Amino acid sequence: MLFVTPLLKNVAYPALSSFGYFRSWRTRQANPLTVLTYHGVFPQGYVPRSRLLDGNLISAKRLHRQLNLLKRHYNVICPEEFLRFLDEGIQLPPRAVLLTCDDGLANVVSGMLPVLESLQLKCIFFLTGASFTDHPEILWHEELWLLLEAAQPGPLGFQHLAASLENIPGAAHDRHRIWWELVKQLSKTNASVRRHFIEELGSAAKLCDGWNTALLQDPIQRSRFQLLDKQQAEKLVKSGMTVGAHTMDHPVLAQCTEEITREEIARPLKLAPADWNLRMLAYPFGTPETVSGRDVSLAEAAGYRCAFMNVGGSVPSSVDRFVVPRIHITANMNFGEFEAHASGFHQDLQNRLSRSASPTQSQAVLSQS
Ligand SMILES: [Zn+2]
Repeated sequence: MLFVTPLLKNVAYPALSSFGYFRSWRTRQANPLTVLTYHGVFPQGYVPRSRLLDGNLISAKRLHRQLNLLKRHYNVICPEEFLRFLDEGIQLPPRAVLLTCDDGLANVVSGMLPVLESLQLKCIFFLTGASFTDHPEILWHEELWLLLEAAQPGPLGFQHLAASLENIPGAAHDRHRIWWELVKQLSKTNASVRRHFIEELGSAAKLCDGWNTALLQDPIQRSRFQLLDKQQAEKLVKSGMTVGAHTMDHPVLAQCTEEITREEIARPLKLAPADWNLRMLAYPFGTPETVSGRDVSLAEAAGYRCAFMNVGGSVPSSVDRFVVPRIHITANMNFGEFEAHASGFHQDLQNRLSRSASPTQSQAVLSQS
């Protein structure tokens, strides 16, 4: 079974895509829609640092090729059609796809918007508080990753009220494990404590003063890591794109106190200019582990019309509008694999395998697809 993974990825999916199998499969499915999640594009000249940090972004060229396929063989619907599907139950065209993009990195205006405009497609951009308050910064969890990557491995003995860190591990997978533990721990605090923690940790790890702001002096790094400011976000709106909220500071909501979660979810509605017409939310991280039932109830109570997860496959007609599933597009997908995911086929296969095989077997088949 282990051999099936590269076989699916490199042989079966590209062949099925080139024969047009996925689009005809999609036409026969009862679930009327798939929603894709992007995270922006690599600025020209940017060299990806690691799969863990950069695995969500793709090149503008690849984005163009993927969206061109959707435009030719699927029906990319606009956000208004999606809301009417939720509110009025309108029938969607066959092979309907909705495009979304999370985080609001600066490169979505410079790199992604021109691709969308050239193909005349619409997308929902989910922005964080930085883009509502005009304080452009780096996503704190990416900054934390950059810090752990830049620090020398070895003992540290760092103590902070929010979390402690005994040592910086050398192996990438250990750093990733520690990073995720810290992300969860720091999500229990508030935004200013998180910033303070990162600053203190940078000093303890002997990174030079301003290591993080220096990164933003470089235009390529700035386009990769800096969040959109309000003016740049305006460009999305003026270009006919839709903007939604991605909370204020992108914490793991399930780890936050109820009071902080309420504020994280509701505040963008108060801060966004009226003409942005903010109505939709995407939960940060968007997995069942990171979003609790309480967070879903708070999204509804805040007044959003719907909210998106980042996993779950295709969208049924009877979807819970506050737990809308999406399909996450990543850098490691080849072209055929992209269509296997975008059509919902891959998730459907995963569901079938997990029902018929042991978890280990199905994981072996699909883990790298
Ligand atoms: Zn995000």
